[in-house]
Amino acid sequence: MRWSLAYIPTLRETPTEAEIASHRLMLRAGLIRKLSAGIYSYLPLGFRSLLKVIRIVRVEMTRAGALEVLLPALQPAELWKRSGRYPQMGPEMVRFRDRHDKEMVLGPTHEEVITALVAGELRSYRNLPKTLYQIQTKFRDEPRPRFGVIRSCEFIMKDAYSFDRDRAGLAVSYQRMYDAYERIFTRCGLSVVVVEAETGVMGGEDSHEFMVLADNGEDTVVRCGACSYAASKGRAAIGQRIADRKSQVEGPKPMQAVETPGVSTVEKVSQLLKVSPARLIKTLLYQAGSQTVVALVRGDQEVNEEKLRRVVKADRLQMADPPMIQRVTGASVGFSGPVGLKGILTVADPDVMNLVNAVTGANEADKHLLNVNPGRDFKPDTVADIRFALAGDPCPKCGKALEVLSAIEVGHIFQLGAKYSSVLGATILDEDGKQRPLIMGCYGIGVTRVLAAVIEAHHDAAGICWPWSIAPYPVVIVPINQEDVSIRESAEALYREALEAGLEVLLDDRSVSGGVKLKDADLIGFPSRILLSEKTLQNDAVELKLRTDSKPTLIPRSEAIHSLKKLLDRYLSPPR
Ligand code: ATP
Ligand code: MG
Repeated sequence: MRWSLAYIPTLRETPTEAEIASHRLMLRAGLIRKLSAGIYSYLPLGFRSLLKVIRIVRVEMTRAGALEVLLPALQPAELWKRSGRYPQMGPEMVRFRDRHDKEMVLGPTHEEVITALVAGELRSYRNLPKTLYQIQTKFRDEPRPRFGVIRSCEFIMKDAYSFDRDRAGLAVSYQRMYDAYERIFTRCGLSVVVVEAETGVMGGEDSHEFMVLADNGEDTVVRCGACSYAASKGRAAIGQRIADRKSQVEGPKPMQAVETPGVSTVEKVSQLLKVSPARLIKTLLYQAGSQTVVALVRGDQEVNEEKLRRVVKADRLQMADPPMIQRVTGASVGFSGPVGLKGILTVADPDVMNLVNAVTGANEADKHLLNVNPGRDFKPDTVADIRFALAGDPCPKCGKALEVLSAIEVGHIFQLGAKYSSVLGATILDEDGKQRPLIMGCYGIGVTRVLAAVIEAHHDAAGICWPWSIAPYPVVIVPINQEDVSIRESAEALYREALEAGLEVLLDDRSVSGGVKLKDADLIGFPSRILLSEKTLQNDAVELKLRTDSKPTLIPRSEAIHSLKKLLDRYLSPPR
């Protein structure tokens, strides 16, 4: 490609709306343009890279035995009502009525459509296993679209679905996808941390997320610095707690009520009573079905509602509303405490049990209790890990300190089981003549988000540093002075040779200054740059510089193509 014929609108200025590097660089390098909040167009260079990611995904899906399909984005709401997710999806799902007044949605994901599709087709255990996938646009009316294509309202996802006759089959299909994901991300130049994850609205049991560590990531990875443990923030367990020695040097004192008029938040109580939030017991009330649950955590820690939900074995958990709190505790919000609460299931985090002379609400308006000692002044029904893990907490596997890191989620895989097949009637006739629901897995990759994650992981002050595998062009040829006939002609000749050798190359034949050409080359981030100048011509050489090297090397002109081919061979060979 010749730059003079290309469409590469690079920007010198940093766009003000872009908060993070990948977003800024995708705009500046002319890869994407915004149409509206969370909605982007891909320009030629951005689309080339996107297609390369898609090609890697296709090759690895094929290797894993998955078959490509294309499912409709336009879907009848009726299908979502049948699966039970129509109300659950909330305002994130784009809903409308067609001209016949039929309720429709734009697919945010495709479990319903694929299950309904195979329901009539995969009828016998002999048809299994099958894994189908597609690469398609998803629509999600995100509450906060941001960071460019990392969280957008229209994005491209690779979603795959496996169908097996039983759990053992699912385990095999799941592992195959897991392995394919590792290869895909490696080939895209990403190093991922795989974490145990929550299943959320997808449902099902086992689930893993593929995370790219990044300072500006919206997600959080909790991992052990010493062993292999890694989990999402929602899922991360905490190991054996050790009592804080400082709080144990003093012995238990007699409990005492104090006036705290209108002071109801952890922060304000801790200021007024001059105790650290770590000495407070936070008391939170929840409704779990018909049961009320009291959760106790330290004032400086947060309840993890998923953990709590599992401990109390409830399907759903909801915070109690103020009238309910008043009814159960006898006081308004902010004055609840575990002392004297009767007949309510109380769950305390282990850190609460390690407190000595703690402070908590008195279940009376404008009053708190001092010197509350768990075990002596109240006894919870259950002591269990019900809070979010924090940096420094003990690892559940080895006890060493956990780290908490920000990350970008690029992929998510789930063992769904029979959740969709049972409600949508996708059953097979098994060997024993019985009808059984298909056992499913689902597997997503945010293809457009991958592009941004790669840039987030590979850039410097001057611009993007593309991995060879997904660079829009792996090579740019830069004649430093376009007006100099011999430089220009030499560059043209090299360009023709490169094309003949089958290289993907961009020739910067613009009549702009050498400085502008070099700046643009660095901004866009071609992995290799061949520069031709008066000096290189005098030496019958060219200058080869890798984007990630600080200095160029002079190589004989006659070896230029060969050197480039060697580099491409080295960097483009897939992992074994
Ligand atoms: P998130 O927690 O980031 O919202 P999710 O759990 O909703 O993601 P899935 O439904 O599992 O995501 O979708 C599969 C993949 O699609 C995600 O791992 C992510 O890479 C990508 N993805 C999800 N939402 C978006 C979005 N709004 N914009 C771009 N990519 C997205
Ligand atoms: Mg989401």
